[in-house]
Amino acid sequence: MEQKSIPYGRHHVTEEDIQAVHDTLLSDYLAQGPRVEEFEKKFAAYVGAKYAVAVMNGTAALHLSALALEVSEKSKVITTPITFAASANCIRYCGGKVVFSDIDPQTALIDIPAVEKLLQQAPAGTYQGIIPVDFAGYPVNMEQLRKVADKYGLWIIEDACHAPGGYFIDSSGEKQSCGNGKFADLTVFSFHPVKHITTGEGGIITTNNEALYRKLILLRSHGITKDPDLMSQNDGGWYYEMQMLGYNYRLPEINAALGISQLKRAEAGIERRREIAKRYDEALSGVVESMKPSDSVGHAYHLYVIKVSGRKEVYDKLREKGIFSQIHYIPVHTLPYYQSLGYKTGSLPHAEHYYEQCLSIPIYPTLTDEQVEYVIRTIKEVV
Ligand SMILES: *Cc1c(COP(=O)(O)O)cnc(C)c1O
Repeated sequence: MEQKSIPYGRHHVTEEDIQAVHDTLLSDYLAQGPRVEEFEKKFAAYVGAKYAVAVMNGTAALHLSALALEVSEKSKVITTPITFAASANCIRYCGGKVVFSDIDPQTALIDIPAVEKLLQQAPAGTYQGIIPVDFAGYPVNMEQLRKVADKYGLWIIEDACHAPGGYFIDSSGEKQSCGNGKFADLTVFSFHPVKHITTGEGGIITTNNEALYRKLILLRSHGITKDPDLMSQNDGGWYYEMQMLGYNYRLPEINAALGISQLKRAEAGIERRREIAKRYDEALSGVVESMKPSDSVGHAYHLYVIKVSGRKEVYDKLREKGIFSQIHYIPVHTLPYYQSLGYKTGSLPHAEHYYEQCLSIPIYPTLTDEQVEYVIRTIKEVV
């Protein structure tokens, strides 16, 4: 049977989405306006946070978060090597030093005991913050991480670009959604087309901290305010003050309209991702090693990762059969830019071993049952 090529992830745009964008183009606002505000309110409600600040991509969301938390040349910040480079780059934008802590091989998430060891061994005040990543959609246990962070006075930026709609069950049995603002100071999401919902390009920061929220609003738009309550003086209707060095990271209305429309399908999308993951779990058990989550998390399945030996051959053979798997990720400390800063291959054995074997196989809401079975059959054939 002839199969169309199947990517590892894919966006989904409906007639309703197109209508929402169309209507926006005919409206009074194209740059940031009422739809951005509506999208922020709805996204904050979706994850259970008080505030949300929409920006033009996930990387801008990380950059603004680092700026709001005053990362500078003097800062040392801990993150995981198994992530997209942007999680670490945001520290470099502000001149800070990135310290990679190894992963837990069971989950591929930053290993919390290893982070604590790093903090114990350093003089007090060495580190300012930590950027955990809910890799593949597997939520980090933020309750445990917060305890460690509090002990050493660290802030947390949670990179939840893979995990809108993900959650973990805390020690009192309560469901804690990624980005709900209870544990992380700031949480960052991306709306790149490969993520759960898309705005074309886009990102958002959620928080329960009002002071950080106000700062993010300023930083998003040149550090300029026209709010009379915030200004030191007021010369008249035209008057504004630039109070800090900000950027133009605003999200256009066109993109926000797409986001509002896509958000309506967010839960249905996650349900379908979980259904596909369950089928892969059953069908591939004993064939390949998969990254089964613990019962105390609601995995968001941005990715479905399997571990195989002879990974390159498997990748190439799948490609020949029209299945475009992907590798997430090349460990960040081994990328040439980070190597040029002195980071050494061999320094993070769990992450490097994981990279040798990992393969992300197709998972996205519009993947059909037939395609899922084709992927399963083909993997059984080639491994
Ligand atoms: C996608 C992604 C980003 C960056 O988001 P963009 O919107 O592409 O800038 C950051 N971190 C992780 C983990 C991501 O997957």
